[in-house]
Amino acid sequence: MTYDTETLIQLDKAYVWHPFTQMRDWIAPGHQPIVLVAGNGAWLEDSLGRRYLDGNSSIWTNIHGHGHPTLNRAIRAQLDRVAHTSFLGFTNPNAVELATRLVGVLPGSSLTKVFFSDDGSTAIEVAIKMAVQYFLQSGHPRKMGFISFENAYHGDTLGASSLGGISLFHDRFKLHQFPVTRIGSVESLAVIDGSEISGLVIEPMIQGAAGMRLWPVGTLKTLRQWCDDHGVLLIFDEVMTGFGRTGKYFACQHDEVYPDFLALAKGLTGGYLPLAATLTTDRVFSGFLGSSLETFFYGHSYCGNALGCAAALANLAVFEEERVLEKLQPKIEHLAQRLHALQGLANVREIRRAGFIAGIEVARRDGHSFDSLDRVGAQICFAARRHSLLTRPIGDVIVLMLPLCVTFEEIDTAIGAIEMAIIEVCHRS
Ligand SMILES: *Cc1c(COP(=O)(O)O)cnc(C)c1O
Repeated sequence: MTYDTETLIQLDKAYVWHPFTQMRDWIAPGHQPIVLVAGNGAWLEDSLGRRYLDGNSSIWTNIHGHGHPTLNRAIRAQLDRVAHTSFLGFTNPNAVELATRLVGVLPGSSLTKVFFSDDGSTAIEVAIKMAVQYFLQSGHPRKMGFISFENAYHGDTLGASSLGGISLFHDRFKLHQFPVTRIGSVESLAVIDGSEISGLVIEPMIQGAAGMRLWPVGTLKTLRQWCDDHGVLLIFDEVMTGFGRTGKYFACQHDEVYPDFLALAKGLTGGYLPLAATLTTDRVFSGFLGSSLETFFYGHSYCGNALGCAAALANLAVFEEERVLEKLQPKIEHLAQRLHALQGLANVREIRRAGFIAGIEVARRDGHSFDSLDRVGAQICFAARRHSLLTRPIGDVIVLMLPLCVTFEEIDTAIGAIEMAIIEVCHRS
């Protein structure tokens, strides 16, 4: 297949508005966007035939690589039956099977009910609205508040972003967001009155969009205890950390601490289709078993989408059939070693890692931060393209989150590309 790259770019610049993108820079005559046209395993190909490692798993979504035969086959087979049917008043076999499977993947938890939606933000919206309606219907009309963390990221819809704590993303919309009690660490909980709090939300183990920041060991246990003591529902946002990224199926399994709501999206379909799930407990579910007025008033057109559920079932099947988590452990070891070597670069300030998720923070040699307007992180990611790696920074943190299917050699390629890019961009600063 050949592509008319020039025309595609011209039409894109004329008509398309990209997310989180300064479009003035994008439409500038000198900017040559990459037009991605194909993918195979951990590699992506552009319209000019150049190949790149998918260094951030296509924004944290892809799990087993692109074009995986099991996922492709499952989606095609479902497509030949039907693409989408309504989940309002009807059900479908894939959604039923997926819910059943999801309840089984967290043994030890009491998460037994699955609500489907479309993406990470809606998975969080579902948890927020369920918590609110649950307390309204169970005799606690004052339990309406939420607690979230500084630098948290839970999505961009207004509700989910109300919980967010990244000022660059969220502050400008403050007037239109609901009030949230924001804390910097679990210690702050000691002085909070939980009687008016319905839910507490956290990205377990590691905050992603904050720049890959890890929580102290024991954080989840403390939160679980506080929530139990104050009758607060605990919400884990595993939109990024779910599906093997941290070395286990879910981040919360490292501590064996389980929430009252678990939000899943990005990797749920292996990164093939938009689908999300919010898991919750019998206790929450039971709070909705009343008159028609106690129905959970929430839903989207594509809830329970059959193609998405087919992809998600195939995603889970690949984990088992290919013993993905077992094979991942030596890759995590290898990644850790290679990152350790990067630490020697003069411009690397800190490397943070949780399992297969890594953030490489760069700074001046004298230890001071770069001027954020210089966008050094972005320059480094741009330079890495010339060394066959695609990724996107968070400020001056280079994100490395490879699909779990990568080989040892591909890990080396990715680290080598980041190393060369850092040296090229930072060599005098
Ligand atoms: C990406 C992300 C979200 C939002 O998911 P979308 O699918 O982009 O709406 C929420 N929480 C976390 C932790 C994320 O990384």
